[in-house]
Amino acid sequence: MGSLVSTLISLAAAGTMMLSAPLNQAAPQHDVDGTLFLVNRQWRVHQYYVPEHMRQAEVTGQIRTMREEAAAALEAMYDACKKEAKVTLTSVSGYRSYTKQNNIYQNKLNSVGSKAKADEYVARPGASEHQLGMAMDVGQKDKVNLSASFGSTKGGKWVRENCWRFGFILRYDEGWEDVTGYNFEPWHVRYVGLEAAEALHENPMPFETYLLGLREERLYAMIQGASAGEE
Ligand SMILES: [Zn+2]
Repeated sequence: MGSLVSTLISLAAAGTMMLSAPLNQAAPQHDVDGTLFLVNRQWRVHQYYVPEHMRQAEVTGQIRTMREEAAAALEAMYDACKKEAKVTLTSVSGYRSYTKQNNIYQNKLNSVGSKAKADEYVARPGASEHQLGMAMDVGQKDKVNLSASFGSTKGGKWVRENCWRFGFILRYDEGWEDVTGYNFEPWHVRYVGLEAAEALHENPMPFETYLLGLREERLYAMIQGASAGEE
Protein backbone atom coordinates (compact mmCIF):
# COMPACT_ATOMS: atom_id res chain seq x y z
CA MET A 1 0.00 0.00 0.00
CA GLY A 2 2.82 2.38 0.91
CA SER A 3 4.36 2.03 -2.52
CA LEU A 4 1.05 2.76 -4.23
CA VAL A 5 0.62 5.93 -2.23
CA SER A 6 4.14 7.15 -2.99
CA THR A 7 3.76 6.21 -6.68
CA LEU A 8 0.51 8.13 -6.90
CA ILE A 9 2.00 11.14 -5.13
CA SER A 10 4.96 11.31 -7.49
CA LEU A 11 2.75 10.79 -10.55
CA ALA A 12 0.37 13.50 -9.36
CA ALA A 13 3.26 15.90 -8.77
CA ALA A 14 4.65 15.21 -12.23
CA GLY A 15 1.17 15.54 -13.72
CA THR A 16 0.46 18.85 -12.01
CA MET A 17 3.73 20.21 -13.32
CA MET A 18 3.01 19.06 -16.85
CA LEU A 19 -0.60 20.15 -16.97
CA SER A 20 -0.29 23.51 -15.28
CA ALA A 21 2.76 24.70 -17.19
CA PRO A 22 2.16 26.83 -20.29
CA LEU A 23 2.32 25.03 -23.62
CA ASN A 24 5.74 26.30 -24.52
CA GLN A 25 7.21 24.90 -21.31
CA ALA A 26 5.19 21.73 -21.00
CA ALA A 27 5.43 20.30 -24.46
CA PRO A 28 7.33 17.03 -24.46
CA GLN A 29 10.63 16.79 -26.22
CA HIS A 30 11.41 13.16 -25.62
CA ASP A 31 11.51 10.61 -28.40
CA VAL A 32 14.45 12.26 -30.18
CA ASP A 33 14.64 9.59 -32.87
CA GLY A 34 10.89 9.08 -33.10
CA THR A 35 8.43 10.75 -35.41
CA LEU A 36 6.78 12.81 -32.66
CA PHE A 37 9.83 14.83 -31.70
CA LEU A 38 8.93 18.48 -31.15
CA VAL A 39 11.00 21.39 -32.37
CA ASN A 40 9.85 25.00 -32.26
CA ARG A 41 11.09 28.40 -31.11
CA GLN A 42 11.10 27.35 -27.46
CA TRP A 43 12.14 23.73 -27.89
CA ARG A 44 15.32 23.65 -29.87
CA VAL A 45 17.26 20.71 -31.09
CA HIS A 46 20.92 20.34 -30.16
CA GLN A 47 23.46 21.80 -32.58
CA TYR A 48 25.12 18.42 -33.01
CA TYR A 49 21.89 16.53 -33.69
CA VAL A 50 22.00 14.84 -37.09
CA PRO A 51 19.24 12.33 -37.90
CA GLU A 52 20.26 8.81 -38.81
CA HIS A 53 19.08 6.93 -41.90
CA MET A 54 18.63 9.82 -44.28
CA ARG A 55 18.41 9.57 -48.05
CA GLN A 56 17.43 11.64 -51.06
CA ALA A 57 13.73 11.53 -51.86
CA GLU A 58 13.22 10.52 -55.48
CA VAL A 59 11.27 13.60 -56.50
CA THR A 60 12.19 16.62 -58.60
CA GLY A 61 13.61 19.68 -56.92
CA GLN A 62 16.40 20.76 -54.61
CA ILE A 63 17.52 19.69 -51.12
CA ARG A 64 15.68 16.39 -51.26
CA THR A 65 17.33 14.78 -48.25
CA MET A 66 15.00 13.44 -45.57
CA ARG A 67 14.86 10.63 -43.09
CA GLU A 68 14.22 7.32 -44.82
CA GLU A 69 10.58 6.89 -43.73
CA ALA A 70 9.76 10.53 -44.48
CA ALA A 71 11.41 10.32 -47.92
CA ALA A 72 9.34 7.22 -48.79
CA ALA A 73 6.15 8.91 -47.61
CA LEU A 74 6.98 12.04 -49.62
CA GLU A 75 7.48 10.01 -52.78
CA ALA A 76 4.13 8.28 -52.29
CA MET A 77 2.43 11.62 -51.66
CA TYR A 78 3.92 13.27 -54.76
CA ASP A 79 2.94 10.25 -56.90
CA ALA A 80 -0.63 10.39 -55.63
CA CYS A 81 -0.86 14.14 -56.26
CA LYS A 82 0.33 13.62 -59.81
CA LYS A 83 -2.32 10.93 -60.38
CA GLU A 84 -5.20 12.57 -58.55
CA ALA A 85 -4.67 16.29 -59.16
CA LYS A 86 -2.39 16.15 -62.24
CA VAL A 87 0.07 18.39 -60.44
CA THR A 88 3.81 17.77 -60.19
CA LEU A 89 5.04 18.80 -56.77
CA THR A 90 8.71 19.60 -56.24
CA SER A 91 10.96 19.78 -53.23
CA VAL A 92 12.28 23.18 -52.20
CA SER A 93 13.95 22.31 -48.94
CA GLY A 94 14.13 19.13 -46.86
CA TYR A 95 16.91 18.45 -44.35
CA ARG A 96 18.95 21.44 -43.21
CA SER A 97 21.83 21.12 -40.78
CA TYR A 98 22.29 23.41 -37.79
CA THR A 99 25.16 25.13 -39.60
CA LYS A 100 23.07 25.69 -42.71
CA GLN A 101 20.21 27.15 -40.64
CA ASN A 102 22.70 29.34 -38.82
CA ASN A 103 23.97 30.69 -42.14
CA ILE A 104 20.43 31.40 -43.34
CA TYR A 105 19.63 33.18 -40.08
CA GLN A 106 22.84 35.26 -40.12
CA ASN A 107 22.23 36.30 -43.72
CA LYS A 108 18.69 37.41 -42.87
CA LEU A 109 19.98 39.22 -39.79
CA ASN A 110 22.55 41.07 -41.90
CA SER A 111 19.95 42.12 -44.46
CA VAL A 112 17.19 43.26 -42.04
CA GLY A 113 19.42 44.61 -39.27
CA SER A 114 17.67 43.34 -36.11
CA LYS A 115 16.95 39.99 -34.48
CA ALA A 116 13.32 40.95 -33.95
CA LYS A 117 12.91 41.45 -37.71
CA ALA A 118 14.96 38.40 -38.67
CA ASP A 119 12.88 36.23 -36.33
CA GLU A 120 9.76 37.10 -38.30
CA TYR A 121 11.14 35.35 -41.36
CA VAL A 122 13.65 32.74 -40.36
CA ALA A 123 13.95 30.20 -37.56
CA ARG A 124 17.02 30.47 -35.40
CA PRO A 125 19.48 27.61 -35.61
CA GLY A 126 18.14 24.66 -33.61
CA ALA A 127 14.57 25.96 -33.84
CA SER A 128 13.87 24.63 -37.33
CA GLU A 129 12.08 21.34 -37.93
CA HIS A 130 14.16 20.96 -41.04
CA GLN A 131 17.06 19.81 -38.85
CA LEU A 132 14.99 16.72 -37.99
CA GLY A 133 14.92 15.52 -41.59
CA MET A 134 11.15 15.16 -41.30
CA ALA A 135 10.02 18.45 -42.80
CA MET A 136 9.67 19.47 -46.43
CA ASP A 137 8.92 22.78 -48.09
CA VAL A 138 6.71 21.71 -50.97
CA GLY A 139 6.79 23.62 -54.23
CA GLN A 140 5.54 23.44 -57.78
CA LYS A 141 7.54 23.61 -60.94
CA ASP A 142 7.77 27.05 -62.58
CA LYS A 143 5.82 28.69 -59.77
CA VAL A 144 6.82 31.16 -57.07
CA ASN A 145 7.63 28.99 -54.09
CA LEU A 146 7.51 29.54 -50.33
CA SER A 147 4.65 31.97 -50.73
CA ALA A 148 1.23 32.03 -49.07
CA SER A 149 -0.29 31.80 -52.56
CA PHE A 150 0.80 28.14 -52.66
CA GLY A 151 -2.20 27.47 -50.42
CA SER A 152 -4.66 28.51 -53.10
CA THR A 153 -3.08 26.55 -55.95
CA LYS A 154 -4.43 23.18 -57.04
CA GLY A 155 -1.37 21.45 -55.64
CA GLY A 156 -1.50 23.40 -52.39
CA LYS A 157 -5.15 22.53 -51.86
CA TRP A 158 -4.48 18.89 -52.62
CA VAL A 159 -1.62 18.80 -50.11
CA ARG A 160 -3.81 20.35 -47.41
CA GLU A 161 -6.56 17.80 -47.94
CA ASN A 162 -4.45 14.72 -48.51
CA CYS A 163 -1.07 14.93 -46.78
CA TRP A 164 -2.41 13.07 -43.71
CA ARG A 165 -2.90 9.92 -45.82
CA PHE A 166 0.90 9.74 -46.07
CA GLY A 167 1.71 10.64 -42.47
CA PHE A 168 2.26 14.38 -42.97
CA ILE A 169 0.68 17.38 -41.31
CA LEU A 170 0.46 21.01 -42.34
CA ARG A 171 2.55 22.20 -39.43
CA TYR A 172 1.87 25.96 -39.47
CA ASP A 173 -1.77 26.48 -40.32
CA GLU A 174 -3.63 29.77 -40.27
CA GLY A 175 -4.80 30.81 -36.81
CA TRP A 176 -2.22 28.73 -34.95
CA GLU A 177 0.52 31.39 -34.90
CA ASP A 178 0.32 31.98 -31.14
CA VAL A 179 0.88 28.30 -30.41
CA THR A 180 3.33 27.30 -33.13
CA GLY A 181 5.26 30.58 -33.10
CA TYR A 182 5.33 30.62 -36.90
CA ASN A 183 3.27 32.39 -39.51
CA PHE A 184 0.97 30.48 -41.87
CA GLU A 185 3.09 28.32 -44.16
CA PRO A 186 0.89 26.28 -46.50
CA TRP A 187 4.01 24.78 -48.10
CA HIS A 188 5.66 23.33 -44.98
CA VAL A 189 4.70 19.74 -44.20
CA ARG A 190 6.04 17.68 -41.32
CA TYR A 191 6.16 13.90 -41.17
CA VAL A 192 4.62 12.59 -37.91
CA GLY A 193 3.62 9.06 -38.98
CA LEU A 194 0.23 7.72 -40.02
CA GLU A 195 -1.39 7.45 -36.60
CA ALA A 196 -0.76 11.03 -35.49
CA ALA A 197 -1.47 12.42 -38.96
CA GLU A 198 -4.84 10.68 -39.08
CA ALA A 199 -5.74 11.85 -35.58
CA LEU A 200 -4.84 15.43 -36.51
CA HIS A 201 -6.83 15.17 -39.73
CA GLU A 202 -9.94 14.12 -37.80
CA ASN A 203 -9.41 16.69 -35.09
CA PRO A 204 -7.22 19.53 -36.37
CA MET A 205 -5.04 21.30 -33.81
CA PRO A 206 -1.43 22.47 -33.56
CA PHE A 207 1.14 19.72 -33.06
CA GLU A 208 2.07 21.28 -29.68
CA THR A 209 -1.51 20.88 -28.44
CA TYR A 210 -1.70 17.33 -29.73
CA LEU A 211 1.50 16.32 -27.93
CA LEU A 212 0.29 17.84 -24.69
CA GLY A 213 -2.93 15.83 -24.95
CA LEU A 214 -0.95 12.70 -25.67
CA ARG A 215 1.13 13.33 -22.59
CA GLU A 216 -2.00 13.66 -20.45
CA GLU A 217 -3.34 10.40 -21.82
CA ARG A 218 -0.09 8.58 -21.07
CA LEU A 219 0.02 9.99 -17.56
CA TYR A 220 -3.56 8.87 -16.97
CA ALA A 221 -2.72 5.39 -18.27
CA MET A 222 0.30 5.27 -15.95
CA ILE A 223 -1.86 6.13 -12.95
CA GLN A 224 -4.45 3.55 -13.95
CA GLY A 225 -1.71 0.98 -14.42
CA ALA A 226 -0.12 1.78 -11.05
CA SER A 227 -3.38 1.44 -9.11
CA ALA A 228 -4.46 -1.69 -11.02
CA GLY A 229 -1.10 -3.29 -10.21
CA GLU A 230 -1.65 -2.90 -6.47
CA GLU A 231 -5.01 -4.66 -6.27
ZN1 LIG B 1 9.84 24.70 -43.93
